[in-house]
Amino acid sequence: MTSAQRMPILFIGHGNPMNAVEETPLAAAWRETALTIPRPKSILCVSAHWETDGSKVSAMKSPTTIHDFYGFPDELFHVQYPAPGSPELANHVVELLGADEVTTDDSWGLDHGSWSVLRRMYPEADIPVIQISLDRKKSPHEHGEMAKKLLPLRDEGVLVIGSGNIVHNLSLIRWNEDTPHPWAFEFNALATGLIIAGDTGRLTDYPSLGESARLSIPTNEHYLPLLYALALRMPEDPVSFFADQVVLGSISMQSVRIG
Ligand code: ZN
Repeated sequence: MTSAQRMPILFIGHGNPMNAVEETPLAAAWRETALTIPRPKSILCVSAHWETDGSKVSAMKSPTTIHDFYGFPDELFHVQYPAPGSPELANHVVELLGADEVTTDDSWGLDHGSWSVLRRMYPEADIPVIQISLDRKKSPHEHGEMAKKLLPLRDEGVLVIGSGNIVHNLSLIRWNEDTPHPWAFEFNALATGLIIAGDTGRLTDYPSLGESARLSIPTNEHYLPLLYALALRMPEDPVSFFADQVVLGSISMQSVRIG
């Protein structure tokens, strides 16, 4: 394959799972993004919602739809996303990363970090999807170094999607207004600038980015999927953004297309 056929990489701010069922501008942005990229052969999703000790890659033939949230309307609990899995791709990911780095898992299906977005992007659920978990024991740098080994997938028709949020502070959510906290707005802009500048080093060392980073990333599971996406960036890749807004005061929906 030539580089002309290389798949882009996406980082998608998934935010509130209601975007899976409500016709929001965010849902529209995800759908439109899918229309602009080559149809993938399969999808590898790095979701904020699967954390494990040691990295795992999901290998179910028919992944279950996991409703991993509470307090939402019944409608959301009834959503199914019956995309096939791909044990072959899971085994290939183990080959690329090394069996000492990652093992296959037969218990995890698709969590809402994956299906709430994929339901909008590929509503027919006819493209195989697997997930890779976030190893709690790895540092941000180690996550990025491991992710680089996934680069060959881009030339094999695999769409890698990181699904999280650049700013994600649930304890400081403002349910009744959409005015962002100043620090949320500030960090969203700072991170966006660093992505444009290609400064993955500073984004990886986010604790050094100051108070706005500390408040935006109280725990890093929603931020780490961004580092997976950035790790697969080649120097010649253009970068563009979609769904750039901060909602509920403390959740950035900023989403990135690389390549
Ligand atoms: Zn989430």
